Amino acid sequence: MAKQVVEFIRELFKTDGFIPLHAPTFQGNEKRYVTNTIDSTFVSSVGEYVDEFERKLEQFTHSEKVVATVNGTSALHTSLYLAGVATGDMVITQALTFVATCNVITHMGAEPVFVDVSPVSLGMCPHALDEYLQASARLTETGCIHIATGKTIKAVVPMHTFGHPVELEKLSAVCDKWHLVLVEDAAESLGSYYQDKHTGTVGAFGALSFNGNKIITTGGGGAVLCKRKEDGVRAKHLTTQAKVPHPYEFYHDEAAFNFRMPNINAALGCAQMEQLPVFLANKRRLAAHYQDYFENTQFQFVKEPSYARSNYWLNAVICPDTATRNELLTTTNDAGVMTRPVWQLMHRLPMFADADRGELTYSEYLEGHLVNLPSSPVTHFS
Ligand SMILES: *Cc1c(COP(=O)(O)O)cnc(C)c1O
Repeated sequence: MAKQVVEFIRELFKTDGFIPLHAPTFQGNEKRYVTNTIDSTFVSSVGEYVDEFERKLEQFTHSEKVVATVNGTSALHTSLYLAGVATGDMVITQALTFVATCNVITHMGAEPVFVDVSPVSLGMCPHALDEYLQASARLTETGCIHIATGKTIKAVVPMHTFGHPVELEKLSAVCDKWHLVLVEDAAESLGSYYQDKHTGTVGAFGALSFNGNKIITTGGGGAVLCKRKEDGVRAKHLTTQAKVPHPYEFYHDEAAFNFRMPNINAALGCAQMEQLPVFLANKRRLAAHYQDYFENTQFQFVKEPSYARSNYWLNAVICPDTATRNELLTTTNDAGVMTRPVWQLMHRLPMFADADRGELTYSEYLEGHLVNLPSSPVTHFS
């Protein structure tokens, strides 16, 4: 069966060569815009492409204010900082995620807490979140307190796994009930919608990534989506060393960050944004091919939730058992068709082994059963 999967993927991508999990394509104005920044010498922290990229993202996501950053990790950092996360706090995220989310929490002097993901979305389960809070937290006048340690639980960071939107309405309701700030890790979900809302715009903050393997790339890059305009103004200030504008004096009014996206990266981003609708259409077509193929097999193709429109950033199948998963991973990778398991769950990593957590039944199931398939937005599909 795994051999047939290899053949099918080779047919889809029409090549006998190596097939990566996700490769970027530059078939638009990328070279022209990047060359413009070099010709103008404005490759760094000043230049018009940053503003243009931010405006394009605002138009596309209908976010109140977007601030471009050096990467998705720094966008998360800025978001949690603005959410008020401080030393000694706790932040709840999902056990099945990329490590960046948890590293940021640690570097803010806070502690991550892990809850389970849902079979509906593969992202944070609203019931698991509420159950954890009911068992481990209590609401006081000063906020949501973790009973065992007396620490404040400040924020909740769900992640839209592989581009599939989490159940944002239910998660929002749980966050409201427990007085927690909702910050969406939307690193993988540019072009994904919860009902008619772009992911990253329901929570107070959302973080996008434009790393080389994401749906669009700026080389390295990210963006903070702010629900309130004033937070966006603060985000811009914080990511640019909190420099107060002046014709020549250097005056900074708080200890801030150098997280601003350089103009040369934003130039690439502007050209990629022009391509985004085509990428999204091609990715849906690819996902539809996969879905048809896996329909009557032992593999269950991961589809977008009923309430959502997914960007299908990374396609995935759930295998009937771990032996089949291992065989699929080995056979495809040996044949030059890149596939990957999900990340090691966060509580298995040494630095997060002692983190508090709820039941992680479905996360553990996915760890042993899920395989990601090649998902580049190639253009030759009929
Ligand atoms: C890619 C990614 C990030 C980090 O983005 P970078 O741009 O690589 O810093 C964070 N969270 C998730 C879930 C990601 O997939």
